[in-house]
Amino acid sequence: MASFGAALDALPHPLLAYCRTGTRSVTLWSFWEARKRPMPEILAATKAAGYDMNGVARRLANGGQTPTDTGDAHFEVVIVGAGAGGISVAACLKSRKPQLNIAVIDPADIHYYQPGWTMVGGGIFDAKTTAKTMGSLIPRGVHWIKSAVAAFEPENNAVILDGCRVVKYDRLIVCPGLKLDWAKVEGLEETLGRNGVTSNYRYDLAPYTWELVQEMKSGRALFTQPPMPIKCAGAPQKAMYLSGDAWFRGGVLKDIDIQFMNAGGALFGVKDYVPALQEYVDKYGATLNFIHNLVSVDGPAKKAVFDVCKLDAEPSRVEAEFDMMHVCPPQTAPDFIRVSPLADAAGWVDVDQSTLRHQSYDNIWSLGDVMNAPNAKTAAAARKQAPTVADNIVADIAGGSAVAQYNCYGSCPLTVERGKIVLAEFGYGGALKPSFPRFLLDGTRPSRAAWFLKETLLPPIYWKAMLRGKEWMAKPERLKVAAGR
Ligand SMILES: Cc1cc2nc3c(=O)[nH]c(=O)nc-3n(C[C@H](O)[C@H](O)[C@H](O)COP(=O)(O)OP(=O)(O)OC[C@H]3O[C@@H](n4cnc5c(N)ncnc54)[C@H](O)[C@@H]3O)c2cc1C
Repeated sequence: MASFGAALDALPHPLLAYCRTGTRSVTLWSFWEARKRPMPEILAATKAAGYDMNGVARRLANGGQTPTDTGDAHFEVVIVGAGAGGISVAACLKSRKPQLNIAVIDPADIHYYQPGWTMVGGGIFDAKTTAKTMGSLIPRGVHWIKSAVAAFEPENNAVILDGCRVVKYDRLIVCPGLKLDWAKVEGLEETLGRNGVTSNYRYDLAPYTWELVQEMKSGRALFTQPPMPIKCAGAPQKAMYLSGDAWFRGGVLKDIDIQFMNAGGALFGVKDYVPALQEYVDKYGATLNFIHNLVSVDGPAKKAVFDVCKLDAEPSRVEAEFDMMHVCPPQTAPDFIRVSPLADAAGWVDVDQSTLRHQSYDNIWSLGDVMNAPNAKTAAAARKQAPTVADNIVADIAGGSAVAQYNCYGSCPLTVERGKIVLAEFGYGGALKPSFPRFLLDGTRPSRAAWFLKETLLPPIYWKAMLRGKEWMAKPERLKVAAGR
């Protein structure tokens, strides 16, 4: 603002400021002028120019800062994000302390069961079964503030919403998921959903994956995987296996060249599952291309470009033609988290890996994809994290220290063919954490039992148990080592 103001004062008038819509120029002008002009004059001048600055009036009146000493609302617990983690933790808290005054903040109308999108892309689920209205899922007695959080002021126990409303809290839980960074791949956004380019990472695109698979009788299919961390690290190859299986069953597999373009250096991060997966790679005749990172797409020309960074060699670029391409987008922490005081150096919310309490702010906890514990970013992980956070917050309210620890569980049901799954269940460092005895379900081998779990049991477990605070097979472990705080 200072340099904009200096230019305003120094340059001859009339003066033209440029930005894409004019909003940023008008906002900067308003903040600069607010130092010397009365607010109503600024609001009137900007309104006459076609811009409504009422939304930032509080900041204008406060020298560019949103005042957070007094809030527009106050709750004992505020939860940012009503996804898998947010709704679950709200329900877990309500089941422990029904009188607790809780608000969930989320701008979305619809809540998605994202683990179902792999099945949509494989022609098994109807997309509609993976979506429900947000209002129908917020637990009874929990306030829903339908807005996006723009910034955090942890020193003042306040979050600032888009439009500058301020919500104050005693305790905060941060779980807005992660950002799918489609724009990082040049040309991708323009061609998604067209020209044979699809992704199971979006509700509206997963049905297009199945459409393409059914149409394809010959040619080349690319399946991309970006650098880690990503949510459901197995999803890119799940799309490949289910497509390969459909082509196998349709008798066209021999005419289809499947290429897996993986920015990483291994088929799967936990080695125990690799032999079973490799058998399916071989069955579908897929070529594994490691350290191939998608950087640009030309949809109409059906060409994709990858950066290849081999050890001890100059980085190179390779181009690949395709008839169909399934893209898993690059993923980062959301922008408003990355720039906040809650983030670690990589942008993720910085928590204690056991208690999920923030490393610097004692009244903040985090769960789900947004935080920096090194577990697999999955709904299965959030299912175990929610009761842990709830137990620790209840203990904190009672004046005690943390009592529960997250056991680092994450799970990835790898749909290797229609009817069979390799059920990867593991914790920090790749330690196996099977839920069932081996004679019942051996996760390292493809099984029909695991498919039954994914197709028939897990969706109702998600909607009717996890999101309603029923903690089946999700009881938190007692904290073994005193957390010290
Ligand atoms: C294709 C695919 C397949 C998957 N397969 C599996 C699987 O088989 N098994 C499994 O366990 N997991 C799977 N996952 C991963 C799983 O869906 C996520 O790990 C899980 O949803 C994370 O929960 P979350 O609460 O952290 O984030 P989300 O569920 O993504 O929810 C985040 C919420 O935060 C809200 N939000 C965002 N920004 C703001 C803001 N500024 N202010 C307020 N609210 C905000 C959003 O609107 C959203 O409602 C899969 C995901 C995908 C995409």
